[in-house]
Amino acid sequence: MRHVIVVGAGQAGASCVARLRTKGFDGKITLIGEEPFPPYQRPPLSKAYLLGEMDRDRLYLRPESYYAEQDITLRLGAAVTGVDPEARTLTVGDDVLPYDDLVLTTGSTPRHLPASIGGDLDGVMVVRGLHDVDAMAPRFAQGARVLIVGGGYIGLEAAAVAAKLGLNVTLVEMADRILQRVAAPETSDFFRNIHTQHGVDLREGVGLDHLTGAEGRVTGAVLSDGSTVEVDFVLVGVGITPNTTLAEAAGLRMENGIATDAHGRTSDPHIWAAGDCASFPWKGQQLRLESVGNAIDQAECVADNIMEADQPYAAKPWFWSDQYDVKLQIAGLNTGYDRIVVRQGADDVVSHWYFAGDQLLAIDAMNDPRAYMVGKRLIEMGKSPDPDAVCDPETDLKALLKA
Ligand code: FAD
Repeated sequence: MRHVIVVGAGQAGASCVARLRTKGFDGKITLIGEEPFPPYQRPPLSKAYLLGEMDRDRLYLRPESYYAEQDITLRLGAAVTGVDPEARTLTVGDDVLPYDDLVLTTGSTPRHLPASIGGDLDGVMVVRGLHDVDAMAPRFAQGARVLIVGGGYIGLEAAAVAAKLGLNVTLVEMADRILQRVAAPETSDFFRNIHTQHGVDLREGVGLDHLTGAEGRVTGAVLSDGSTVEVDFVLVGVGITPNTTLAEAAGLRMENGIATDAHGRTSDPHIWAAGDCASFPWKGQQLRLESVGNAIDQAECVADNIMEADQPYAAKPWFWSDQYDVKLQIAGLNTGYDRIVVRQGADDVVSHWYFAGDQLLAIDAMNDPRAYMVGKRLIEMGKSPDPDAVCDPETDLKALLKA
């Protein structure tokens, strides 16, 4: 019987095995995960779950019983330590398991601060997994002082939770502005205002020089401008690196993560990859996306291609972020934009439309699900609206779809 093994029981791994069964795959499926939990969603970890507004059960993508019902062997708390592509086997614990097709959905690891600047002090944490968040939750007590290093989405979401819970929050971003890597200055301005209004001490163009501690615990930070901050704990949100150790050791081709072809296949014909760890061909380069939407779509594409669908992966990037009462929704990729068109609604309702020449590339919609929906649809259809019509509040957005 054909055996598909999926390594990494996260968003992509869970999507892949579910899709295989939905599409009628009747062989053997094994899903192996190093964490002790059934596959769960990470986005709430820096949002509702951290805020204490969401139960753990609701994090799970499916009840654990689902896997047995679908005849999927779920092996948790087990790290795969080696893959032998020649023999088509992998090693997990004391077992060597044979596979016909192997899918690597090993995700990514947050970057840590080096020990040389105090990154190993007690109280210096990252937000990646359930364990991390459960361990840090008791520190989110009113009046506690937290330093957040990094003004990307995860750092800003954690800052919003901390401010809402009454902590004293300092956030440092080494670049000139928060969200510099991912968004236009207009979007950075929007979120800077919101955070400042909620009392976050937001410092841009200021990096962390080093952390200071007493008896092994972090107690303060010296910033790149020479200023100092006293802290009770530190959250580090300075990006991730794809988990490629297994793939590299197996001799697979690497380029911006595990390189796959348009069908999700790696340089070995029996090994596939999807999610945060995998890159795919896009406009002449190997693109890697770090989002739930990509993890699901790419993993489902791989499952379909294991079932011989012969379908190339057509990425339709989308993302979201929740900060305070603001819901940000993003569609498309803004790489290469040369112009921002702003559509201002009432109060905090606004959308930023990214154009390259006349071509619509992406949209950031703040509290504006309608603009998001229309922008996403337009991007998927390859249609570009008249920028003047977009910024005119009188324009009925849905009409843009028909134009
Ligand atoms: P993961 O879900 O990380 O799963 C990979 C799994 O593989 C992990 O459980 C890991 O332990 C396991 N693994 C690794 N190596 C091995 C091994 N050798 N053996 C066995 N198991 C292994 N995305 C959005 O679109 N919107 C958001 O708002 C958003 N918010 C986020 C907030 C936080 C705090 C975080 C951390 C991420 C957020 N993301 C968000 C990103 C999104 O969660 C990821 O892009 C997505 O989870 C990627 O799925 P994945 O399956 O590739 O990786």
